[in-house]
Amino acid sequence: MTILLLAEHDNIALSELTARALTAASQMGDAVDILVAGQGAQGVAATAAQLAGVRRVLLAEAPALEQRLAEPTAALLVALAADYAAIVAPATSTGKNVLPRVAALLDVMQVSEIVEVVAPDTFKRPIYAGNAVQTVRSGDAVKVVTVRTAAFAPTASGETAVEIVTVTDAGDPGLSRFVENRFAATDRPDLGAARIVVSGGRALGSAEKFRETILPLADRMGAAVGASRAAVDAGYAPNDWQVGQTGKVVAPDLYIACGISGAIQHLAGMKDARIIVAINKDADAPIFQVADYGLVGDLFELVPELARQL
Ligand SMILES: Cc1cc2nc3c(=O)[nH]c(=O)nc-3n(C[C@H](O)[C@H](O)[C@H](O)COP(=O)(O)OP(=O)(O)OC[C@H]3O[C@@H](n4cnc5c(N)ncnc54)[C@H](O)[C@@H]3O)c2cc1C
Repeated sequence: MTILLLAEHDNIALSELTARALTAASQMGDAVDILVAGQGAQGVAATAAQLAGVRRVLLAEAPALEQRLAEPTAALLVALAADYAAIVAPATSTGKNVLPRVAALLDVMQVSEIVEVVAPDTFKRPIYAGNAVQTVRSGDAVKVVTVRTAAFAPTASGETAVEIVTVTDAGDPGLSRFVENRFAATDRPDLGAARIVVSGGRALGSAEKFRETILPLADRMGAAVGASRAAVDAGYAPNDWQVGQTGKVVAPDLYIACGISGAIQHLAGMKDARIIVAINKDADAPIFQVADYGLVGDLFELVPELARQL
């Protein structure tokens, strides 16, 4: 059984999330092809070709694929689908945009955000904000699967590169068009892929206090910055820093939660972190139930002290 994995990239670099999804895809069949859909993405294909265990890389380049809009990318995947037992993508904005369309066009169900491959047709996935894990078996001829990348270690690069095959795009239905990308300029690591995350909650009280208190510790540790939804809703932190059920799901080596109570919707986004440190003045805060280390006290004293000690 051969699996087709849609690569996550920006036409320049292959995202590490592809190597993580590859680990899942490799457990679903005996061979995995990676599809690099883009424009000017030969370098990305070359990197993908070095990932261990890949059979070959398919490179499709066209102006319509440059931003991997859902319609032309889905059309391409559907055109290739007959040769594959499963179509897999990381559960990123692109994967979550493209794969439901692929599933609908193939008239199969999508299995979303898997965290474990039990068998090639059976998967585990979290439900109820991560409070329960559902085991799903798909009877569809072609499985369409998105992967929660935090649950899988990245596949390493191999010694040699496999063949890169050029495939033609499947045209552009012209149903949507790309307008612009707006990126917040930052030197910090990407929240989704960072090894360390320092997060702040409602307790910070203002955007200024959030910056003054959380950022020095994060900078000291080379960490990404996260926030609870309460902090984001109050305007203390930008939207794309939100961790949780309706924000980003992260699984860093170290997650430091400062002034965050530990509501289930927040835990849904960070409880897979390897080590969780909680700083909270309320010893009964639920965050301490998932924390490996807890500091009970005022974060406005403890966080700067921690940054100084480092
Ligand atoms: C459908 C839905 C989706 C949601 N999605 C998300 C999500 O994605 N992410 C998310 O985070 N939330 C989400 N929420 C909101 C969630 O339920 C909580 O309201 C939110 O996480 C609370 O944020 P908080 O911990 O910062 O604030 P609070 O719950 O108000 O906690 C603040 C904590 O700070 C402590 N504290 C106060 N002052 C200090 C101090 N000086 N020093 C140390 N500690 C102090 C307090 O003891 C308290 O524990 C969602 C809710 C719903 C209904």
